[in-house]
Amino acid sequence: MGIVLKGIGIGNKISIGKVFLYNKEKIEFSQEKDELPFEIKIRQLEESIEDVRRELEELYKSIKETFPREAEIFLFHKGILEDEYVIEKIKSYLAEGYSLVYSIERAFNEIKSEFEGMEQELFRERAKDIEDVEERLLKKILNINTSSLSSLPYPCIVVAKDLTPSDTANLDFINLLGFVTEEGSITSHTAILAQVFNIPAVVGVRGIIDQVKKAEEIIIDSGEGLVILNPTEEEKHFYSIKKDEKDKISRELIKFRDLPAITSKGRRIKVFANIGSEKEAEIAINMGAEGIGLFRTEFIFLDRNDPPSEEEQFRIYKRVAEIFKDKPVIIRTLDIGGDKEIPYLKLEKEKNPFLGVRGLRLCLLERELFKVQLRAILRASVFGNIWIMYPMVAIKEEVEEANKILEEVKQEFENEGKTFVRNIKVGIMVEIPSIALSLEEVIDIIDFVSIGSNDLIQYTFAADRTNEKLRYLYIPNHRAVVSLIKNVVDVCHKFGKEVGVCGEIAGDEEYVPLLVDLGVDELSMAPSKIPVIKKKIIEL
Ligand code: PEP
Ligand code: MG
Repeated sequence: MGIVLKGIGIGNKISIGKVFLYNKEKIEFSQEKDELPFEIKIRQLEESIEDVRRELEELYKSIKETFPREAEIFLFHKGILEDEYVIEKIKSYLAEGYSLVYSIERAFNEIKSEFEGMEQELFRERAKDIEDVEERLLKKILNINTSSLSSLPYPCIVVAKDLTPSDTANLDFINLLGFVTEEGSITSHTAILAQVFNIPAVVGVRGIIDQVKKAEEIIIDSGEGLVILNPTEEEKHFYSIKKDEKDKISRELIKFRDLPAITSKGRRIKVFANIGSEKEAEIAINMGAEGIGLFRTEFIFLDRNDPPSEEEQFRIYKRVAEIFKDKPVIIRTLDIGGDKEIPYLKLEKEKNPFLGVRGLRLCLLERELFKVQLRAILRASVFGNIWIMYPMVAIKEEVEEANKILEEVKQEFENEGKTFVRNIKVGIMVEIPSIALSLEEVIDIIDFVSIGSNDLIQYTFAADRTNEKLRYLYIPNHRAVVSLIKNVVDVCHKFGKEVGVCGEIAGDEEYVPLLVDLGVDELSMAPSKIPVIKKKIIEL
């Protein structure tokens, strides 16, 4: 058996091929100080920056039609080179008599450390972009040709410690079978580009560089996040069959990505995506999402030491709204609690967290936290088509209370002269049987409903959704669940409101026919599920 390593898979493809180990030439710096006059170094700096800016502009233009959002990475890189803060830092070292190469390296290192020290992974990932720009600039100054990745010598799987976004965009697509990196995460630009260009990739594979030196051939299974070094003949045979099957399916599926999901009876079902970050929004739109049905905003609050500020939240919501333009972006207000703990909020330990102060209940108690989020959402509302959705609603009074707070924020905005969408749509998640059965009471104060089947099922059967032993009580098509969903759909339609489903069943081929049959208007799912679910609906 070959050596098997595990990482984070991007996409769902298999590749079998020769290894191409990509060793970036480390740029060696000759000297710290030199005798060259300051003016000459400044001129050389400015000319090189100009050349690199032009290069980036070209790269941007070359992919902007096909991949507008990815192309923006190169505009972002260009922006780094136009940033006064960066230029002034380099110039200050030049003024102290340091060489041009040394000054650039030192300035960029400092800026990179600033990004690396930031709490949010998204910002830490930007350190890679800084590195990328620095390398381009140094290569220009030292007259080093750009990487060999743009013309690979044979069909191969590229293995590297890490790849920059430029490396990924420059890759020789004719000979590239996939790539594996030792570093990287799902939110890195490189991973996103891999997904967009449909290149099978596994990132974050610890130890791959050491191990791969002894390997000639490898298999990557990006669906499983697996890398197999020096596979046996049996393994190659097994994976080549699996590969043919997957390739066939994905060739057929991709045709469905941009099609409207219309059933044979002529009913159009909206196919939306569930996301937890701005980056996933980019993936979602590229997978054919017609809107965001659920933005799990609590993910922005995880893995950090304090809550994101209004400004930080505003920027994220604004960006997602801009990506989706006039398509709906349903932002779910914080759904903390249950299995989503946020240590820095220092919430009281509860005996039954799933039955405790979670979702909207928590927001009604922690009003400041809630108001900051509502302010950020309202500010972003003018940049697209944002809707607000409250999670974990049990009774009408909770919605009234939440709407009162929302109204307060709107009043404050009006007093402050801020622009926002006053009649922003407000909806609720139906996740608790009490609200599913009393929806008529609340329907006139909301604009839409989305059924959170994950919780609705757990509360219907009183079975903790995280307890593997109770998996047998996860029965989406049980008559109890079906009759709750049916009631919700019927009430919504009677009052002319739209109803969606954003729990896992919305992206599950097994249950989609039932949901369509029950009359659901919209299904929201993980972006990767969109093509297969559209196909399912079209074939209904
Ligand atoms: C649900 O409960 O179905 C849902 C979509 O919300 P979450 O999974 O985030 O609880
Ligand atoms: Mg839920």
